[in-house]
Amino acid sequence: MAWVKWDQILLPYDYGGLNVSSLKLKNYSLLTKWWWRFLTNDNALWVRVIKSIYGQSGGLGCNSPLPATKMKIFSGRNWSQIINIDQTPSKLGCNLSNVFVKDVGSGLDTSFWNDIWIGDLPLKDAYSRLFRLEVFKDATISDRITITFDSPVFSWAWESQPTWRTEDELASLTNIIKLHKFSNNSKASWTWKHNSNGAFTTDSLMQVLTSLTAAKLPPSSATDLSPFVPKKVGIFIWRAKKNRLPVRVKLDRKGLDLHSTRCPVCDDDIETLHHSLISCKFASNIWDKVRRWWKFNQLHLTNLSDIASCSNPKLVTTLGVSIWQAVVWVTSYYLWIHRNNCTFGKNIDSAAKIFSDIQGKCFEWINCRWRKGALDWLSWITNPCRFDSIFTKNGIG
Ligand SMILES: [Zn+2]
Repeated sequence: MAWVKWDQILLPYDYGGLNVSSLKLKNYSLLTKWWWRFLTNDNALWVRVIKSIYGQSGGLGCNSPLPATKMKIFSGRNWSQIINIDQTPSKLGCNLSNVFVKDVGSGLDTSFWNDIWIGDLPLKDAYSRLFRLEVFKDATISDRITITFDSPVFSWAWESQPTWRTEDELASLTNIIKLHKFSNNSKASWTWKHNSNGAFTTDSLMQVLTSLTAAKLPPSSATDLSPFVPKKVGIFIWRAKKNRLPVRVKLDRKGLDLHSTRCPVCDDDIETLHHSLISCKFASNIWDKVRRWWKFNQLHLTNLSDIASCSNPKLVTTLGVSIWQAVVWVTSYYLWIHRNNCTFGKNIDSAAKIFSDIQGKCFEWINCRWRKGALDWLSWITNPCRFDSIFTKNGIG
C-alpha cells in the first residue's frame, strides 16, 4: 500500500522529498550529455561517423530532426535511442530541442531552412509555403543573409515571386530575422540555456528535471531532518507531518476490513494520527512526563504540525530548539512503536519504562551526533533545559 507518492520521495530535501534521487532522471541527464558532446565536438572521429550515417545534424531535435521515415530505418540502434531520449523530459516540460541554443556565427555551416536556429522549429516547417518557393533547399544562412552594420541584408532565390500568402510569410520571416541578435563569432557554437556560463552539466539538467517534477506534485515545504536523531526517526516525522501513517481510520478509508477502528492503546476513541500521538490518554501521560522533566508549564502541542515545528517560547537558542526537537521527535517515535506493539500484540512496556527509554535514547543519539561537546547524564535527566551545564567539552561529565 503506497502512503506517499514515489516521485515525492525521490525529490531533494529542499522540495520536501527524502533526497533518494531519481535514477531515471539521472539516466536521462547522462544520456543528454551525448547531445552536448555531439554539438560541441565537431572534429571528433565518432561525431564524423554519426554525421556520415545520420546527416550533419546527427538527427538531434535541437539541430535538424530526422524525418519519421528515416528514424524508422535507424530504430533500435544506439544513437537512435540517444536521439529519442528527449521524449520523457519533454513530457515534464523540458524540451531538449530548445534548451540547447545555437549561435550560428557567420552562418556558413548552418542550413537556413533545415536547422533550428531561430524559434523552436526549422524554418522549412514554420514557413512551409515560402520553403516550397526556395530554389536551393539546402542553402546556408550565409547564402541568404549578410550582416552589414548590425542589420541583415537578404539575398533570396525564389522559383517564382512570393504573392499574397507567401508575401505575408516573407514579411513575418524578415521581421523575426531583423529582431534576431547575430553575434560577432565566425564559427557556430552552442550554449545550454540553464547554466549561467552556457556549458551543459548533468547536474544542471537534473536540477531542471527535478524542479519540473516537483511542480507537478502538490506543494510541499522543505524536509527538515533533525541533526540529532537517526534518519528513521526523521522519516517517521516526515510521514507524520503529511499524515501518511497507517492509523486505523486511514486503513478503513482505504478499504481494509478491520475488526475495529478504535485506538489499539486505550480503546477510548477512534484511531486518528492526532489521537495516537497527542490526545490518546497514554500519549498524554508520556507527554506530561516529558513536560515535567523539562520543567515546562505547557508543551504547546495541539496538532501534528506542532510536533514537526517544536516551538516552545522558553527556548531561545538554536541548540536548545534542536535538542528539544530531538526529544519531541523521539517521544512521538516511541509512542508510535508502542502503538504498533499494542496493535500486533507484542510485549507492551509500561509508561515509566517508555519514558526512561526516551530519556536514554535521546541522550545516546544526541551524544553520537554532537561533535562539539557531549551531554552530561545527571544534568540531562535533572535539568535538560540548562544547555550550558549539560554539555561538557571533554565528553560525558
Ligand atoms: Zn488511545
